[in-house]
Amino acid sequence: MTTEGSFPLTLRLSGRHVVIVGGGHVATRRAHALVEAGARLTVVSPTLTARLTELVHEGRATWLPRRYERGDLEGAWLVQTATDVPEVDDRVALDAEAQATWCLKGGDPEHATAWVPAVARVDDVLVAVSGGGDAGRASRLRDGVASVLQSGELPLRHRTHHPEGFVALVGGGPGHPDLLTARGRRLLAEADVVVVDRLAPTALLAELSPDVEVVDVGKMPEHHPVPQDEINRILIERAREGKIVVRLKGGDPYVLGRGGEERMACEASGVTVEVVPGVTSAISVPAAAGIPVTHRGVATGFSVVTGHERLGDLPTTGDHTLVLLMGVKRLAETAAELVAAGHSPERPAAVIERGFSDTQRTTVGTLATIADRALEAGATPPAITVIGDVVRLGPDWDD
Ligand code: SAH
Repeated sequence: MTTEGSFPLTLRLSGRHVVIVGGGHVATRRAHALVEAGARLTVVSPTLTARLTELVHEGRATWLPRRYERGDLEGAWLVQTATDVPEVDDRVALDAEAQATWCLKGGDPEHATAWVPAVARVDDVLVAVSGGGDAGRASRLRDGVASVLQSGELPLRHRTHHPEGFVALVGGGPGHPDLLTARGRRLLAEADVVVVDRLAPTALLAELSPDVEVVDVGKMPEHHPVPQDEINRILIERAREGKIVVRLKGGDPYVLGRGGEERMACEASGVTVEVVPGVTSAISVPAAAGIPVTHRGVATGFSVVTGHERLGDLPTTGDHTLVLLMGVKRLAETAAELVAAGHSPERPAAVIERGFSDTQRTTVGTLATIADRALEAGATPPAITVIGDVVRLGPDWDD
């Protein structure tokens, strides 16, 4: 079979009569796809597979429990032959031809009047591949195209379907481009405007088309940050211009990232928001240093808190891990406050700087010593502090 003399098209099957002649595995697979597409399906076959029987019981297909008879194609727009008996399939195909009904022919594409391509759907994009009669080749090619579409490497950009504006709050993960979710990557490939944080995976910005506007609101500690109101204003203003706006944030948008405020501000202005979770640094940066935040027999839970402020009551038991984000400068005060609140000064602690970068570094100590050791090492943000016995499980523990 060649693709010459064929004309690709997509059918709107919803509510239209389609017949499958046969009740085996080919019929089953095709039946599900046809029913998904909304076809009014009749299956003609003396026997059915269990899954086809289920479809009939659910009322999603009608079953004629007998052999094929002339007249069974009456009123059908499309027929699939799948009886495994070439003479029967041929007869169905002839009847279909005579009444001008398109015919998919199981195992005999040469004599079919229609073919089903290998299909992938990525968002609202449909990719259909014909493999010149080789179904395996078609599905391998389809998988290849689907995976580059899903990875965001191909430009999926289209005009927004949200006339009031659309903003995606995308959790970028702890900074390494591979740790952004597939959904995040795809939205990034669609973006007209990217509003980016310092700790987001900024290496990915190099892949954007030159006409994508990049707004850097990266906040350096101690430097003038772009105020949150101003960030919200940028998001809403660009979205209202009909642009697809991606707010690319570090880690997860909802973990000490003010994602909730950004979502509420956008929604209050009538802008549609999608929130894409991200790999939070709170869990992944300790992991990058070989420290699991929980471990059977060592820690049964963990708290994630900001190290910027005075800490409230936190579990002092050995089996609870504390993860502090931010606040490297304040570490001495924080450690002293924790000890005053009843945490053992002997509790192991680790400061992990720049997780997942080439310059990642771990400094270990105890609640009593960690602040001095971090100061000696010259630890700077971004860094995560882990406090608890799990620190002993990492390769940097030296006691
Ligand atoms: N929403 C983010 C956290 C934002 S607060 C998340 O879920 O990860 C910013 C803090 O995150 C930094 O001060 C630092 O404590 C931590 N952080 C983020 N990325 C980091 C990284 N690659 N290495 C070390 N710490 C990181």
